[in-house]
Amino acid sequence: MNTAFLGLGAIGRPMAARVAAAGHSLTVWNRTAERAAEFARANDCRQASTPAEAVRDADVVITCFSTSPDVYSILDGPDGLLAGIGSSAILVDCTSGDPATSKKIAARLAEKGARFIDAPVSGGTSGAEKGTLTVMVGGDAAALDEAKPVLEAFGQKIVHCGDVGAGDTVKAVNQAFLAIHILSAAEGLATLVKQGVDPTKALEVINASSGRSNTSMNLFPERVLTRAFPRTFRLALLEKDIGIAASMARDNRVPAPVMQVTADIFRIARGELGEEADHVEIVKLVEQWAGAEIE
Ligand code: NDP
Repeated sequence: MNTAFLGLGAIGRPMAARVAAAGHSLTVWNRTAERAAEFARANDCRQASTPAEAVRDADVVITCFSTSPDVYSILDGPDGLLAGIGSSAILVDCTSGDPATSKKIAARLAEKGARFIDAPVSGGTSGAEKGTLTVMVGGDAAALDEAKPVLEAFGQKIVHCGDVGAGDTVKAVNQAFLAIHILSAAEGLATLVKQGVDPTKALEVINASSGRSNTSMNLFPERVLTRAFPRTFRLALLEKDIGIAASMARDNRVPAPVMQVTADIFRIARGELGEEADHVEIVKLVEQWAGAEIE
């Protein structure tokens, strides 16, 4: 298939590399052009100088930006995506987005006859490299079927969740679970350390017990106990995600104090730790508040 990939960030890069490696014809565009140039050299594909040029001959266009408004911002103008996209093309937005903006983007594409599906992913940068991401999709099921051969380059489990915005909705709630798990694990393990318990022993028990999660099984052993804290997924992006989930709960009048407080704590952490900190680095703040290191 003729494909275009726009947004070569931490997760976009390995996803696009898998699309190229799967044998699809690929054109890339990135706001910071040097990143696209480096990618095109390493993956033997074309680099476009504008979104319009990138999508001109594409059957499937993938976007993976920080937020849905970032995707909306490249639609218009003579160099914008709408100026180049064909009437039979499908835009697959892999941004962890918000459903309201996704619906607006879908309506703008419909003006050109093109289709839109929101398709956020989960599984991290390592899952993208291995092609084992989970993809949650909102939009027309027939459009998903057409785009699937491209999504299968990086996605192992691809689930159609409903109409446009449904993928974003499921992703935001998944991210709320993640944010809550990280905070609760940090609070619990800091308490255990202060009680004199070795956190490695505590995790050995918890990971064979009912309190376990991906956070306790993978993130804490690999990133916190080792003090490695690799930067693979920015805390600022998780703060955006839990913010989307918390406002959806509010809009739907669902009492959700745990989500609201977690969103507030992540907002404070984003202010304290900055835009480049990794999501797991919030543990360092809890450690600071507790006066105990989890190691
Ligand atoms: P990064 O911050 O590493 O990259 C963001 C990308 O978006 C860059 O290519 C950036 O361009 C581009 N971008 C941002 N704003 C604009 C804009 N206004 N116009 C054009 N391009 C823009 O983020 P990630 O790659 O980590 O994440 C991308 C999406 O995937 C996010 O929604 C995130 O929540 C989600 N995600 C990330 C995961 C991860 O493990 N990293 C896991 C699952 C989902 P430039 O290079 O010029 O800055």
